[in-house]
Amino acid sequence: MPIVPGRGQPKAQEASGVKGIATGGATLYVTHSPCLDCASVVQAAGIVRVVYDQTYGPPTGVLWLMNAGVKVQRFSIRKEDA
Ligand SMILES: [Zn+2]
Repeated sequence: MPIVPGRGQPKAQEASGVKGIATGGATLYVTHSPCLDCASVVQAAGIVRVVYDQTYGPPTGVLWLMNAGVKVQRFSIRKEDA
């Protein structure tokens, strides 16, 4: 399964659309939680799990993904956030 780094939407679109990498069933690792626009792209790409570091804006995108059956988890690499 491909691992796509960086902010969700542009990187995921770049990797899957331009380079033709399959994203169905993949886990997406991003620095910030996806907004609603990104969430719809992530779900449409068939991504089944999103792991993010920092919360970005309201949790609308995260809640939308969870409601769509996508597993969403926060994982922070900074100990002080634990
Ligand atoms: Zn977004």
